[in-house]
Amino acid sequence: MYNAIVIGGRCAGAAVGTHLARRGLRVLVVDRSRFPSDVLSTHFVWPHGASYLNRLGVLDQVRAVTPAHTSVTVVNDGIALRGSVPEELLRNQFRLLHDDDSGITQEYFSVRRHVLDKLLVDNAVRAGVEFREGYTVTELLRDEDGTVVGIRGRDGSEERAQVVIGADGRNSFVARALGLEKFDERPRCTFAYWSYFSGIPDAEAQIHRRGRLGMAMASTNDGRTMVLTWGPSEWAAQFRADVEGNFHRALGLISEQAAVTVAQARREERFYGTLDQAAFLRRLHGPGWLLVGDAESFKDQCTALGITHALRDAELAAEAVGRWLGGETDRDTAMAGYAAKRRSQTAAAYYDYVCTLAEMKPLRHDELQLFAILRGNQTEIDRFIATHVDVAPVSEFFDPSNVFLLNDTAKESSRGHEAFTDFEAAYREHQRNPFQRAEAEASR
Ligand SMILES: Cc1cc2nc3c(=O)[nH]c(=O)nc-3n(C[C@H](O)[C@H](O)[C@H](O)COP(=O)(O)OP(=O)(O)OC[C@H]3O[C@@H](n4cnc5c(N)ncnc54)[C@H](O)[C@@H]3O)c2cc1C
Repeated sequence: MYNAIVIGGRCAGAAVGTHLARRGLRVLVVDRSRFPSDVLSTHFVWPHGASYLNRLGVLDQVRAVTPAHTSVTVVNDGIALRGSVPEELLRNQFRLLHDDDSGITQEYFSVRRHVLDKLLVDNAVRAGVEFREGYTVTELLRDEDGTVVGIRGRDGSEERAQVVIGADGRNSFVARALGLEKFDERPRCTFAYWSYFSGIPDAEAQIHRRGRLGMAMASTNDGRTMVLTWGPSEWAAQFRADVEGNFHRALGLISEQAAVTVAQARREERFYGTLDQAAFLRRLHGPGWLLVGDAESFKDQCTALGITHALRDAELAAEAVGRWLGGETDRDTAMAGYAAKRRSQTAAAYYDYVCTLAEMKPLRHDELQLFAILRGNQTEIDRFIATHVDVAPVSEFFDPSNVFLLNDTAKESSRGHEAFTDFEAAYREHQRNPFQRAEAEASR
């Protein structure tokens, strides 16, 4: 009999298992995958994600094989802003969520999943977790009241625990077995295609957006650079008709400079891609079970926060389960505390922010003006970046009181940027699917 069984052993599962084992609990983590292995995911880890890795004790191992950065360039329709997530905002967030701001780092990086997930699994085992890879759960065991009391594996083995934690990703087996509905579903999302290139030394971390398309570039492990493009899912079918051609076409439309850099580089792997990243929420807990990571909440890759959020949830869930099983509080109080933090106003506002961004509507004139005005105001640039990556509350940055940035003098300063030359024509052009035209031209 275990105190906790965790289904899924990657960012959410290995992390929650480690935290629970460190609290002296007997923990079994199972995963149908074998490690090291990849999952379909790019792999930016922002400073709060890196801070969670530091708190787990694996940051140095990640950093030993992964180039890191402390600032990022965000370019909207050619308007470039370079900044960093402020340390004080990071500290505030950790104090609010965990009453503890130890292990904070302002670094971030893009670490391959076969690297990160293996480090997390090994770390869990060192913490005392019993880890079974290549183990597929096919059934949840329940008592006569319906309370989940254990698991049955494909090999017929059964294991029992006081709580079963679903860390089994967005197509969660646990959620299906319990018949959990998705809610607040957001079907409008992005398609995303990426690959790995050599010959882009010291690739600066950058995220670009132009019209309805986006691209990101970041150095990753083994001297390679990950280059990613994305756009609205309604353009996905036309993009997929010629992935390589459209990948380079998209880069050219977004950033001429990035397109030239990538054209001169050498692609080292195939293209990876996904057409659908519709967002959803699920219930967080019930009798004998709990969900963490993508199993509980999935959202589009456009702000690259799933790993960070999975690590956050793992720590929050372990705090709650640890207090309950450690006898500090009763189960309902502990779970209510977990739910309150996961379903706070701030978390809801950020979920809405990502889902709205994932619609990839062309940037409006006033939005672009805001970016133009931010240039030269480093404090506000840093605050915008912190907001974009869920370190500062969305409601504060986009609060009307912050619209001081849009006063008349400031508007003057945005004039003269090429983004505002014939804005209406560009805006109309941005609405058209460029891959449809490419497809039509190719078939002519
Ligand atoms: C295209 C794309 C790009 C992304 N880019 C980023 C990014 O740049 N940065 C970022 O932070 N996030 C990114 N994400 C999100 C990120 O990949 C996820 O949020 C993260 O992987 C969630 O971790 P998890 O541990 O909850 O689930 P997963 O990583 O999905 O792990 C779930 C595990 O559960 C196991 N499992 C499932 N069912 C069973 C079963 N029945 N029995 C046993 N084991 C089981 C699976 O084998 C798997 O190993 C991206 C996602 C996508 C789709």
